[in-house]
Amino acid sequence: MEQGEFCAVKQAYAEYEEFAQSKLCGRCLPCLLAAPLVFAALEHLQHGRGGAAKLEELRFLARGVQLTGRCKFGHEALEKLEKKLAEAADDFTAHAEGSCPQRVCPELNRYRVDPERCTQCDICRTLCPTGAIIGDPYVPYRTDNRPYVILSSRCNGCGMCVSACPENAIELA
Ligand code: SF4
Ligand code: SF4
Ligand code: SF4
Repeated sequence: MEQGEFCAVKQAYAEYEEFAQSKLCGRCLPCLLAAPLVFAALEHLQHGRGGAAKLEELRFLARGVQLTGRCKFGHEALEKLEKKLAEAADDFTAHAEGSCPQRVCPELNRYRVDPERCTQCDICRTLCPTGAIIGDPYVPYRTDNRPYVILSSRCNGCGMCVSACPENAIELA
């Protein structure tokens, strides 16, 4: 899948941050108390964490501030968030489960090495900043060298290996 340019979860975080920094006046408790929780929930989701419970919490907060907050700024901001949660439900659910369908959030990208194209040149392994790539360089007549593999638990999704591979052997999983 090609890299996209728009991620609803990322956008929701940016929009809410803008609201909180410019409009949140702190005059009423629901909005004031909800703000850090909304940030934390959006941050969790943006990083692929939290699961369905975090998503439910975000919906609850968005509704709660609309019902109990004192002014239209708070209402409008959370209404916008609630609308986005409904319109981009699939994107939010995917993030809660650890992936970004639009491939916009780099750390949620997962890569794999195509063994058919990999020539075991070792370029990717030496440049990977997190040591996520394992494998042995090609040595003529040697048969026990390990194929190249990307360990998703260590990969931060930076994409450096993708651009560096001379064989285009690294692709999104
Ligand atoms: S809902 Fe309105 S009044 Fe209440 S803290 Fe938020 S911005 Fe202030
Ligand atoms: S840079 Fe490409 S060809 Fe070289 S070892 Fe890595 S995946 Fe294989
Ligand atoms: S995407 Fe970045 S961190 Fe992940 S394997 Fe490639 S170079 Fe390493």
